[in-house]
Amino acid sequence: MARQQLAMASQYLNLDEGLHQVLAHPVRQVITAFPVVLDSGEVRVFEGYRVQHNLSRGPTKGGIRYHPEVDVEEVTALAMWMTWKCAVVNIPYGGAKGAVKVNTKRLSKRELEKLTRRYATSINNIMGERSDIPAPDIGTNAEVMGWIMDTYSMQAGYTVPGVVTGKPLELGGSEGRVEATGRGVVVTAAEGCKSLGTSLNGAKVVVQGFGNVGSVAARLAEQEGAIIVAVSDAVGGIYNPKGLPINELYHRYSGVEGGVRNYTECEQITNEQLLELDCDVLMPSAIQEQITVANADKIKAKLVVEGANGPTTPEADKILYDKGVLVIPDILANAGGVVTSYFEWVQDLQNYFWEEAQVNDRLSNIMRRSYHAVYETMNQHKVDMRTAAMIIAVQRVAEATTMRGIFP
Ligand code: NAD
Repeated sequence: MARQQLAMASQYLNLDEGLHQVLAHPVRQVITAFPVVLDSGEVRVFEGYRVQHNLSRGPTKGGIRYHPEVDVEEVTALAMWMTWKCAVVNIPYGGAKGAVKVNTKRLSKRELEKLTRRYATSINNIMGERSDIPAPDIGTNAEVMGWIMDTYSMQAGYTVPGVVTGKPLELGGSEGRVEATGRGVVVTAAEGCKSLGTSLNGAKVVVQGFGNVGSVAARLAEQEGAIIVAVSDAVGGIYNPKGLPINELYHRYSGVEGGVRNYTECEQITNEQLLELDCDVLMPSAIQEQITVANADKIKAKLVVEGANGPTTPEADKILYDKGVLVIPDILANAGGVVTSYFEWVQDLQNYFWEEAQVNDRLSNIMRRSYHAVYETMNQHKVDMRTAAMIIAVQRVAEATTMRGIFP
């Protein structure tokens, strides 16, 4: 799928076949097997990966995923998507992704720390604050990033906070990082409403997923005057056409057993029903492949803002486009996280930390600017917004690659 998307954008750009091939391949793939002594004394070997896709625009950037079903092909596709995500918001990085094939639920905290430190050591020679900067992804968090930073620093002989982002604030993390992705979703949603001649203020919004991205997006959209009529989590959804009390839901029910369905002054609905509700803006912010051929036709929102990665299948995309629904694609809508990771890295390199308001302002500016660049490209090429975002991203990376030339 990643290669197909690139091929399509390359066609629009009339890219030279040699250059297309350069972009279709990752620069470097590391596959490592490493042992960890478990609490029981048993030695278990784990497989880990780190893939760097393209270095033309700067060091590579991308999360580390801990998941039992991950493999090097998947990590490679994710690394390529990171290249486009960084390019579409014009931050000076190429894309990378890392992973360890592991079910973290079966590990104690001590085992998780040992696995992390050993994996970090295995990729130590390709990681670095000037070369490749990991961040959290599925199965990893700020604490894991702290261990990676410490492991790398132990070997460098001094503290290197800029080698990973998404760290705890105490270790050189950035203000605003936790809310960044949700904030970016809301900034692009507000711009999307304007493009449609309406406003987020007063709009009826439905949010799927009430985790980091969804709950922040719902709260910030509410602050912008939107009426959040439905939210959901893995257990199911809740609906009130007059609006839900998002702050209360967030403080009382996010992350607790039973989730948002603990709130009873509303109608209980399924995740499937939620997607088809009557609303102005739909923010799928949970998991992939939620809007498919089975339900795309029934989506009533005029604007879909992809907080999650890959929530819309390519076939559904086409149905939405034909219906005139504006879809702000994931590589743009949820890029707020990597933009603020970039801010964290800049602050770490300078050892000079910004106020939260400064982080949020700069993030909003980048998201707005990127939205309008993609929107204009969409109109210019008469394509959907996802294709437009790919065109901009591939063009930026292709230009940088061409300008640098092929060594030697
Ligand atoms: P999270 O784990 O904090 O939250 C996920 C939410 O989705 C939870 O409320 C969970 O209950 C819900 N969920 C899980 N399975 C579901 C299902 N089958 N149906 C409905 N809801 C379900 O994760 P997150 O960090 O909020 O990430 C959500 C999405 O956003 C993912 O696709 C992720 O890749 C993407 N994303 C996250 C970030 C970030 O900075 N956190 C950045 C870019 C993209």
